[in-house]
Amino acid sequence: ETGRTPLMAGNWKMNLDHFEAAHLVQKLAWTLDDAKHDFDAVEVALIPPFTDLRSVQTLVDGDKLGFKYGAQDLSQYDKGAYTGEISGAMLAKLKCTYVVVGHSERRQYHNEDDAVVNAKTKAAIKHDLTPVVCIGEGLDVRKEGRQVPHCLAQLDADLAGVPADKAASIVIAYEPVWAIGTGEVATPEDAQEVCAAIRGRLAELYSADVAKAVRVLYGGSVKAQNVAGIMAQEDVDGALVGGASIDPGEFASIVRYRD
Ligand code: PEP
Repeated sequence: ETGRTPLMAGNWKMNLDHFEAAHLVQKLAWTLDDAKHDFDAVEVALIPPFTDLRSVQTLVDGDKLGFKYGAQDLSQYDKGAYTGEISGAMLAKLKCTYVVVGHSERRQYHNEDDAVVNAKTKAAIKHDLTPVVCIGEGLDVRKEGRQVPHCLAQLDADLAGVPADKAASIVIAYEPVWAIGTGEVATPEDAQEVCAAIRGRLAELYSADVAKAVRVLYGGSVKAQNVAGIMAQEDVDGALVGGASIDPGEFASIVRYRD
């Protein structure tokens, strides 16, 4: 036993308007309620588009059912003239627990580099949100076998200046870019290799206690059918799920991977 509570986080990405989101959250709530899911044993986070956050929370109160909520991104700034941006303070007010930072789609399509990811990680912490910091290598790096040093360099840069007393509660998501949305899932051994290396680096950067406490998720084409093998790995503490998270039956099965 690792002592870490597994976390299954569903990133809905830019899918589902607020009507569709209302359907999904209720179906998921009914399914997990019927199954008498123990949310303390396997934590569940829903990460809808900003425009759905308020609707889903109003329908399914996380305090009652046990869902945690998160956002897919935040601004590195607190407030002001940043048209189109969403601040950490706004998300905290909406009772978000988590916020994804540095997703590969943000890095790729919005040119977010590690300096921005670092600033957003600190902004999340400042507003008492738990950042889910995403790192991962592309196919070129994987082919050269450089996935571990690549991911550790990202980790170092993204966490620069984050103090030890805050580091213990953050979440890291290892998401190999070649496995995201491609149907090409990493093998459990591939996931374990990088997740273990991340934990090792956290021990070097902070302490053994911090390394033991931090949850390291795997993300990339996780489905009900492959989740158990990935979760069997010592250093994998959950999954960040994209495509499969907007199918309520599939996501409920992922959450209930121990059944
Ligand atoms: C993701 O984008 O975080 C992700 C893991 O996507 P998918 O599950 O669709 O590969």
